Amino acid sequence: MTTVAAYAAPAAKAPLERTTIERRAVREHDVLIDIKFAGICHSDIHQVREGWGEAIFPMVPGHEIAGVVSEVGPGVTRFKVGDRVGVGCMVDSCRECENCLAGKEQYCLQGQTPTYNGIGRDGEPTYGGYSEKVVVDENFVVRIPDGLALDVAAPLLCAGITLYSPLKRFGAGPGRKVAVLGMGGLGHMGVKIAHAMGAEVTVLSQSLRKKDDGLRLGADHYHATGDPKTFEELRGSFDLIVSTVSAPLDFGAYLSLLKTEGTLANVGAPEEPVSLNLFSLIGGGRSLAGSMIGGIAETQEMLDFCAEHGIGAEIELIAASEINEAYERVENSDVRYRFVIDTATI
Ligand code: NAP
Ligand code: ZN
Ligand code: ZN
Repeated sequence: MTTVAAYAAPAAKAPLERTTIERRAVREHDVLIDIKFAGICHSDIHQVREGWGEAIFPMVPGHEIAGVVSEVGPGVTRFKVGDRVGVGCMVDSCRECENCLAGKEQYCLQGQTPTYNGIGRDGEPTYGGYSEKVVVDENFVVRIPDGLALDVAAPLLCAGITLYSPLKRFGAGPGRKVAVLGMGGLGHMGVKIAHAMGAEVTVLSQSLRKKDDGLRLGADHYHATGDPKTFEELRGSFDLIVSTVSAPLDFGAYLSLLKTEGTLANVGAPEEPVSLNLFSLIGGGRSLAGSMIGGIAETQEMLDFCAEHGIGAEIELIAASEINEAYERVENSDVRYRFVIDTATI
């Protein structure tokens, strides 16, 4: 066991504060990672606030981890000391159900083990990336390509893969009109990735405040959803809409923006249920789909894709002492576009 410094919420809704946690000794297939950077995902905030239901405290959030391997177990074959690596939203799964065998560990039928706010298969609570070090089985660790700096790579481990996976699955590419709904941490990655895939990209944001950034990051068009004219103007326009919105939404209004048989893929995880008039689906033969992060192999594929296309996150690098303030700014849609903690400041 190693004692490491971390930032934790001691109880639901409490501010995060500096503390120490124990990391297990490296086992046969484990790697010890010196964490360099950890992104702040809106999911961290939902969970610290118990917005998704009862959670485990103390909670050390953080599932956008970038660092360097500092020790490997005797059975490790994929990594060596000094490798630049990442860890995302899960650190284990059953590895034998049909979804795990298909590389969709995020949908493990026995339940994947979340990087934090979970109980590992050894019965111990999991603690996330707002800490100095983490021990993870090598099968849940990915390689960060040399071309990507670790600070801008960290958010790819959740925000990047969460957008890459549905964009690929629903065919974002040349000749396809894709809208990204919400220009936050996930949304801005969606703009960059959909653009790199060759799609015609539209941002749908509450206002035009971030328009210049959206266009700079690769959007072809940018519209304010706060303006009712947007819904008239864009009716029937898109092959695919990816919603990253963290709050309940009028999905019916957005479904009307799809072409016939278009798809609205939702990745946002609001704390409240939404209601939907099903005529907005059956009318145009439209689909409403969901997507959660991506599998381990797909996460590696996404990192390689991002390195090839020179894509990192747009980040605001902060000290650990600024985490609580950063949470407030994320809740106010005032992040440009991902807060990343410099873990040397913990
Ligand atoms: P974020 O940085 O806060 O971005 C969310 C964006 O949603 C905001 O920037 C804002 O965009 C828009 N928004 C917020 N409140 C809104 C409202 N009331 N009405 C309309 N638009 C609103 O959060 P994030 O880290 O990208 O995460 C977004 C959501 O995805 C969270 O619920 C998170 O838990 C979830 N998530 C899901 C997965 C998954 O695997 N499915 C993975 C990670 C995160 P504008 O300012 O442009 O309007
Ligand atoms: Zn996340
Ligand atoms: Zn499984």
